[in-house]
Amino acid sequence: MVEKLVIIGSGPAAYTAAIYAGRALLEPLLIAGSLLGGQPSLTAEIENYPGFPRGISGPELMQAMLEQAERFGARVQLDEATGVDFSRHPFSVITSSGPIEALAVIIATGTTPRRLGVPGESEFVGRGVSFCATCDGFFYRGKEVVVVGGGNAAVVEAEFLTRFASRVHLIHRRDQLRAEKVLQERVLRNPKVVPIWNTVVTAIVGQDNVTAVRLRNVQTGEESEVPAAGIFVYIGTEPNTAFLGGQVPLDAQGYIQADQQGQTAIPGVFAAGDVQNPLLHQIATAVGSGAAAGMTAERFLAELASVGYAELRLRVRGPSVVEPGTPA
Ligand SMILES: Cc1cc2nc3c(=O)[nH]c(=O)nc-3n(C[C@H](O)[C@H](O)[C@H](O)COP(=O)(O)OP(=O)(O)OC[C@H]3O[C@@H](n4cnc5c(N)ncnc54)[C@H](O)[C@@H]3O)c2cc1C
Repeated sequence: MVEKLVIIGSGPAAYTAAIYAGRALLEPLLIAGSLLGGQPSLTAEIENYPGFPRGISGPELMQAMLEQAERFGARVQLDEATGVDFSRHPFSVITSSGPIEALAVIIATGTTPRRLGVPGESEFVGRGVSFCATCDGFFYRGKEVVVVGGGNAAVVEAEFLTRFASRVHLIHRRDQLRAEKVLQERVLRNPKVVPIWNTVVTAIVGQDNVTAVRLRNVQTGEESEVPAAGIFVYIGTEPNTAFLGGQVPLDAQGYIQADQQGQTAIPGVFAAGDVQNPLLHQIATAVGSGAAAGMTAERFLAELASVGYAELRLRVRGPSVVEPGTPA
């Protein structure tokens, strides 16, 4: 059986693409990946997604998007895409439970949190090192924790952790935060938050669990240690594109190169959300590009039915033209 449209991912971009494709009667099949609902399902409070003046929890928002997609015929397979074959049409998406043939594919695999790469980080994952305050914050009631980073995610999660922790050390390598001003002001006003500027983490130490975090001031070189039962890392993200095996052109940072409609250099292969946007990582931007990719995929499939794949491949012009299967 050949699927009309396979969408890889189950975050805001994937669900939105599925809503549009579903309403075009394409019965899209989503390969959900290990994080059903995508990154919003890891956060307790979303305040900047339009339509929810009092905010909404991430899991609630994603459940609503899923229901909306399913209402229009989307199907979700709890599976991981481990590879693709875009060198022939229909395409093949390799999953843990076997290959799936598809006439069109939308890649919406988002990003994964970047790691610090310091001693102790890998050893203590799940025993004090976390990338998700919403998931793990509860375990740190009355304890001191460290949050690393200066962007929106770092400050929002630092603020969230003050509900549980006795103190939140906010470690940032610069002398000011990168987060939106409104978020900065709120977190810096919180008496439980202790900012530590111009500082990087050099090691995470402990016995069975984390007990402290070693620091170095990047200006003075001074070394120090803060006691902490947990460390939450929010220092950016990396695109989930390794499974594509170089079959779709990527930029230098590994993000998929796609145009504003989500079209990659391979006709019939589209990208949406954070995985194709190195600069803007928001639910609203992911949703916008998911809608674009869903609509463009629908147009592609309509044209495919009338002229065939060979003709459509010829129509993609300009410097981004590559033969399917050409490594980036
Ligand atoms: C803690 C936190 C708080 C945030 N708070 C906000 C906020 O308040 N407001 C806001 O606008 N944004 C927020 N963001 C950012 C926002 O969540 C992302 O920008 C958005 O989710 C991107 O959507 P996406 O669909 O592109 O990717 P993601 O949400 O990252 O979803 C990617 C999907 O791809 C799947 N996947 C990955 N690899 C594979 C594979 N090989 N096979 C199959 N599936 C795969 C995953 O399982 C996941 O379902 C926050 C992010 C974090 C981490």
